[in-house]
Amino acid sequence: GKPRVVVVGGGAGGATAARYIAKDSEGAIDVTLIEPSRTYYTCFFSNLYLGGFRELESLAHGYGTLAAEHGINVVHDWATGVDRDARTVALAGGGSVPYDRLILSPGIDFVDGSVPGWGLEHQDVMPHAYKAGTQTELLKAQVMAMPEGGTFVMVAPPNPYRCPPGPYERVSMIANYLKANNPTAKIIIADPKEKFSKQALFEEGWQKHYSGMIERIGPDFGAGNTSVDAASMTVDIDGEVIEADVVNVIPAQKAGRICSEAGLTEGDWAPVNAADMSSKMDEAVHILGDASAQGDMPKSGFSANSQAKVCAMAVRGALTGSRVFPARFNNTCWSLISGEDGVKVGAAYEATDEKIASTEGFISQTGEDPATRKATYEESLGWYRAITEDMFG
Ligand code: FAD
Repeated sequence: GKPRVVVVGGGAGGATAARYIAKDSEGAIDVTLIEPSRTYYTCFFSNLYLGGFRELESLAHGYGTLAAEHGINVVHDWATGVDRDARTVALAGGGSVPYDRLILSPGIDFVDGSVPGWGLEHQDVMPHAYKAGTQTELLKAQVMAMPEGGTFVMVAPPNPYRCPPGPYERVSMIANYLKANNPTAKIIIADPKEKFSKQALFEEGWQKHYSGMIERIGPDFGAGNTSVDAASMTVDIDGEVIEADVVNVIPAQKAGRICSEAGLTEGDWAPVNAADMSSKMDEAVHILGDASAQGDMPKSGFSANSQAKVCAMAVRGALTGSRVFPARFNNTCWSLISGEDGVKVGAAYEATDEKIASTEGFISQTGEDPATRKATYEESLGWYRAITEDMFG
């Protein structure tokens, strides 16, 4: 019969890989996509929803086109394990699916105990909103319900984590909402990192648009020693206890657990070969996106999509003999600071023997004029439309 590809995870990496393999092989490869949710909410642009710039529904994407137009067999279930000798994936609902090539793009899970006092059982009180959908909705409802002059605390994650500028864009968007609706409210960031992505651009923007509202406490002031208590809604930063109205805990992260269950992780992430995103431990398995340890690319939707296209080309080449070109990758991360004040950072990448290596990069500059910032923001709107179509059809 036809060669069989199974993809686990219908997010940025998985949906793209499934779509490109099915579309470009024109029926020569049998593609199955395993994803528990019927609707995928993008984390990208979820901060814009928090800021009042997007509706939640605009972040929602379904799998109907992948099934109808590209003949992908979409299975709404959890993959619970991989038998790498038998080459089968077990499903929560029972039964298993055989593969010739397996692609895992399960995104992230959280590291247990990384923020003392917080566990998944507290996510309805202190949301992470680092997987989009109901968590994002909850965080927004909590911000809207803050009392006048109330306090929002974010516990920011250590490196490496999904979307390096994400926490800081989120703070910007929440400040944007509060400035209009609750201008005496305060935002505190407890951050275990010395520095962060696009820091000079964010700090300039916070000063300009939200002067006096945002305070970031870094590791020099004890933020590496932060714990929370969900019962009393307090955050303890190195002995200083803050009473908060909203606490957004973004814990340390690791590869989605199916990767460790399949025995494909080293530490928290799954190491891959840059040329085709194959696992360093099993050449019949490819790992995409946030879960992979690949080198220089940030964990982003753009990166996952770019890696998926390289992987799809390599998998088709291996299974059908189609032509394989040298791997090239790209990423840009846009962030909205306020209104139409958009900034970006990005790079191009190539595959070396050791890793995905950056070749050249670019970043917005401080002091840019409003027209440049507006053009950058508009570029991001075009990007969102194009990339979600590239993923979901
Ligand atoms: P995901 O997109 O998370 O997809 C993983 C999928 O796998 C999920 O649908 C999940 O249900 C499924 N899954 C997991 N385990 C299993 C299993 N065992 N069986 C079956 N299915 C499973 N990126 C950008 O490029 N630009 C941005 O502006 C941007 N902004 C962001 C803002 C925020 C607040 C956040 C949190 C992230 C942002 N990102 C952005 C990052 C981006 O969302 C991720 O990097 C991207 O989604 C990673 O793709 P992925 O395929 O690795 O994982």
